[in-house]
Amino acid sequence: MTAAAEKTNLLGMPKSKLEAFFESLGEKRFRATQILQWIHQRGIDDFDQMSNVSKALREKLKVVAEIRGPEVVYDETSKDGTRKWVMRMDNGNSVETVLIPDGERGTLCVSSQIGCSLDCTFCSTGKRGFNRNLTAAEIIGQVWVARKAFMPFDNGSDRPITNVVMMGMGEPLLNFDNVVDAMNLMMEDLAYGISKRRVTLSTSGVVPALDRLGEVTDVSIAISLHAPNDELRNQLVPLNKKYPISELLAATRRYLSGLPDKRKATIEYTVIEGVNDQPEHARQLVGLLRGLPCKINLIPFNPFPESDFKRPSMNATRRFQTVLNEAGYVTTIRTTRGDDIDAACGQLVGRVEDRTRRSQRYIQVQQVNP
Ligand code: SAH
Ligand code: SF4
Repeated sequence: MTAAAEKTNLLGMPKSKLEAFFESLGEKRFRATQILQWIHQRGIDDFDQMSNVSKALREKLKVVAEIRGPEVVYDETSKDGTRKWVMRMDNGNSVETVLIPDGERGTLCVSSQIGCSLDCTFCSTGKRGFNRNLTAAEIIGQVWVARKAFMPFDNGSDRPITNVVMMGMGEPLLNFDNVVDAMNLMMEDLAYGISKRRVTLSTSGVVPALDRLGEVTDVSIAISLHAPNDELRNQLVPLNKKYPISELLAATRRYLSGLPDKRKATIEYTVIEGVNDQPEHARQLVGLLRGLPCKINLIPFNPFPESDFKRPSMNATRRFQTVLNEAGYVTTIRTTRGDDIDAACGQLVGRVEDRTRRSQRYIQVQQVNP
């Protein structure tokens, strides 16, 4: 093993872990406060630039620690202002991160895994198979890179990232501890200081992990529902066979009722032509969600080569929305952003050295049925 490999990467450590790290070095806990600010608020990765840290401690840190973010291999801005980064994580693997500016808001869409082990039929990430979980440093590293791109931001006036959604590649609840550490850094005042209402974890429904989440944090949640009954959801989201809709919505209720404030869940519904886009589906959805504090986000399906599904017409999506609106639900249709640079929902694939045989299977199927 090389010396560099033994160094502790401080980038992914939330305050409590940094404090423990400094104590283990025989240093005072308040060093954690200084280091957090240098790393996350000033974007500094060089100990020598940390002017309020003594020279002796800086020398010590250089030996045992490092601040190492992901390597940016692609950075492109779309015609509509959406910016996409491809970040290399290790040999052959990379993930994608997208910043969507919208007026005063800037929403960063962050990845949690290299690929995804779940295999939702409408999702291109799933089709590429799975390699591994991202570390906390690799998750918060995406926010760090994106924020550094807008330096200088130390006077507080330039805050390009106001919201974070864990809606990039991967299922965040299957990488629980690292995602929680990274989200804690997003919300930490000494780091990014984003309100818990503006940090959203999106899940396809890992029910036991959703219950655990409620015990350790109070971020906002988005539930990837996509279908109003189990029969259809089993086809779109295979995880539904393990945790059916009734259990998922019960866990969602438990999570919301455990929050200290009144908040709604976001229900995500990818609308696919001829599959789940009929007014009858919308009526079923209304019945299903009765009594659940939620808003509904309709996402017109974004096509990709390995899928036969089609994007619905805007009329069909609006017709669906009208049924929900008339039943009193706040419903938005997510506009497609950044599709000229493949940054839209469901188009994020990165480069996944697949450990499952799934990607191979889909590519073969495609070659047989082009
Ligand atoms: N694994 C988590 C988070 C990542 S996916 C989850 O499933 O919630 C985030 C969202 O991307 C999903 O809700 C889904 O609606 C959306 N998505 C995936 N593939 C899509 C596609 N081809 N078109 C439109 N939206 C898609
Ligand atoms: Fe994984 Fe989410 Fe894609 Fe399903 S929709 S395959 S859970 S990333």
